[in-house]
Amino acid sequence: MNWLTNYVRPKIRALVTRKEVPDNLWHKCPNCEAMLHHRDLEENLSVCHHCGFHMRLDPVKRLGMLFDEGKYTLVELPKSIVDPLKFRDQKRYTDRLKEAQGKTGRQDAVLVAHGPMDGLPVVVAAFDFGFMGGSMGIAVGEALVTAAKTALAHKAPLVVVPASGGARMQEGILSLMQMPRTTIAVEMVKEAGLPYVVVLTDPTTGGVTASFAMLGDIHIAEKGAQIGFAGARVIESTIRETLPEGFQRSEYLLEHGMVDMVVHRKDLRATLIRTLDLLMRPLTLAARDEEDLEIPALRAASDSAEPDHGVQAEAADRTARPAEAEQPA
Ligand SMILES: [Zn+2]
Repeated sequence: MNWLTNYVRPKIRALVTRKEVPDNLWHKCPNCEAMLHHRDLEENLSVCHHCGFHMRLDPVKRLGMLFDEGKYTLVELPKSIVDPLKFRDQKRYTDRLKEAQGKTGRQDAVLVAHGPMDGLPVVVAAFDFGFMGGSMGIAVGEALVTAAKTALAHKAPLVVVPASGGARMQEGILSLMQMPRTTIAVEMVKEAGLPYVVVLTDPTTGGVTASFAMLGDIHIAEKGAQIGFAGARVIESTIRETLPEGFQRSEYLLEHGMVDMVVHRKDLRATLIRTLDLLMRPLTLAARDEEDLEIPALRAASDSAEPDHGVQAEAADRTARPAEAEQPA
């Protein structure tokens, strides 16, 4: 009777059962409580079009919105030790990990990709807050080291987009060791004279703030993101004082000099391109000038009858720039 179960039954079932309607067509804005259609939300990059509230963004969408035509190559991340402490609270850590992997379909909390942004090769590491709160364990440390190495290999700027609650408690001291590790990783990028830009998103807290997330050459923060080390409630109960309004939010941090700019998500790609272009231009100009400069300089020298001082002066001025660019920042 195999034909009955294998062939007839599925056909009948397909006829009888209604087509599944996705139950998440509408989302409620956590800020203004307006109902947002999922298509509008997707078009607006998960920003409420009523109040401008920036919701958390999946790293795949994040990478898609940053790279040219949404095209990029994912960098394979090395396998790291799983559950080195055999940790268990109410649940085993391995079970928590499996659950998060099943839910997100990824190995751990960071995706690393490289691709062009306005034609310029860039390496981006994007965090997934949905994966155990984007917490930083060995695998995340490994991902950032890989991102830094990829940036070096491609001579590309490194952009990190953290969204993290901090260290991964289940990995204890090994989690804390990722702080110096990631610090060294981004330091390698800086030493190579390549820009390291951090895009602070909601939330960036704990050990992540205390390490690579606050070491960028440029800090761009998304609107309204919570950025801080300890939680506001912990601070309030420790110092027994009421904290000012907007404490630990992007705009507050901008006022106090902790971040360089606060941008709307829709302007993020353009802002990044402009910033990276400005930072990378001395290098690209230097490379271009080395090829081009020989000819006008030589021509000016050989035209001894009437040397073109204008060209020479300009050439001298331009050759001065690569030297400047080589100086460490
Ligand atoms: Zn809203």
